[in-house]
Amino acid sequence: MDSVDVSIRGSGPVAFSLGLALARQGLRVALPQVPPLAAAGDLRAYALNAAARALLSSLRVWDALPADAVTPVYDMHVEGDGAGGALDFSSWQQGVEALAWIVDAAELERALHTAARFAPHLALDSGEVRATLTVLAEGKDSAAREALGVAFERHAYGQIAVAARLRADRPHGGVARQWFRSPDVLALLPLDRPQRESSYALVWSLPAERARALLDADDAAFEQALAEASGGAAGTLQLAGARAGWPLAIARAERLCGPGWVLVGDAAHVVHPLAGQGLNLGLGDVAALARVLAEREPWRSLGDEVLLRRYARERALPTRAMAQLTDGLLHLFAQPQPLVRELRNRGMTLLNHFAPLKRLLTSRALDA
Ligand SMILES: Cc1cc2nc3c(=O)[nH]c(=O)nc-3n(C[C@H](O)[C@H](O)[C@H](O)COP(=O)(O)OP(=O)(O)OC[C@H]3O[C@@H](n4cnc5c(N)ncnc54)[C@H](O)[C@@H]3O)c2cc1C
Repeated sequence: MDSVDVSIRGSGPVAFSLGLALARQGLRVALPQVPPLAAAGDLRAYALNAAARALLSSLRVWDALPADAVTPVYDMHVEGDGAGGALDFSSWQQGVEALAWIVDAAELERALHTAARFAPHLALDSGEVRATLTVLAEGKDSAAREALGVAFERHAYGQIAVAARLRADRPHGGVARQWFRSPDVLALLPLDRPQRESSYALVWSLPAERARALLDADDAAFEQALAEASGGAAGTLQLAGARAGWPLAIARAERLCGPGWVLVGDAAHVVHPLAGQGLNLGLGDVAALARVLAEREPWRSLGDEVLLRRYARERALPTRAMAQLTDGLLHLFAQPQPLVRELRNRGMTLLNHFAPLKRLLTSRALDA
């Protein structure tokens, strides 16, 4: 292949969604060749919002997902650290179809890679290719971003997120549950895989040492720790396979674009997974960049920095706001002092009774 309009580096969900979106505009796009089953071992499940779902539907990827790889969340129950504070969100009260959809990460990547194989104007090629615009979607450790000399301000949380799949002895009922347990955050996301209507994807963020101990523990010890942390609220939970850990950090690139290049997804910004928003933000980048490129003046080149800055300006606010929200929540719930605990639990109880603010929070999370 000699040259293309857009070369996308990276093989994750953001790179492939963008490739599909731009190819649909008739742009000639190059994406890397991905080995079959590249993401098969990913134990994560993503909580995706309505905007992400709409984008994936428009790319004809959403409907290609197996039925048991997507589970709608109708209700969400959030608890503080056991001193009474709780928050409940309901899709019915908010007047939305679902609060989020839990999507099997490996199946999402598989569906994106399959769609890319059949998309017109899209070439899968691992060699170097000349392009008017190069998009860096290489994830948080992007080598091309590093080579460009773009600073990536990173703060490690000293935490690891433990992910696993669980079987429960009772139906999940479309309810997602989350516990802010200072200092750990435990989330049980309903997913119809591996067991229809009664299994969960677990994301448990813990101080690194405790997380390593839980990753090394035998199944029975892990399940016991989980039973204590969840208080049996979701029934008896059993591991349905392996566990894996992800070190957690907050990070953002000092610049999002320059002449002929632009950053998207985790290569541009990383947030703590406690609000399940990292990929939602990345898919928000995809939608914004695709629209900015589609609306460019006919004489303007795809690599024109003036054009790319429109994208950077549009994404600055939502990505910064989400980083501040997740970081703020993490710090608020990590405070062990009794007074802070008391205030926090009262705050949650107050918020729980204040429908307009809850509606506002939900709509923000649905459109990030
Ligand atoms: C435990 C956990 C739970 C999460 N849960 C949620 C959630 O519920 N909801 C949500 O929205 N987000 C969630 N996230 C965040 C989400 O995983 C990321 O935001 C998302 O994966 C970012 O996608 P990406 O494509 O930008 O980067 P990545 O997923 O990191 O993909 C980039 C890929 O490109 C590859 N690559 C790098 N360089 C090259 C190259 N030159 N050529 C080819 N390939 C290359 C990398 O190896 C990597 O596989 C979670 C994260 C964690 C850690």
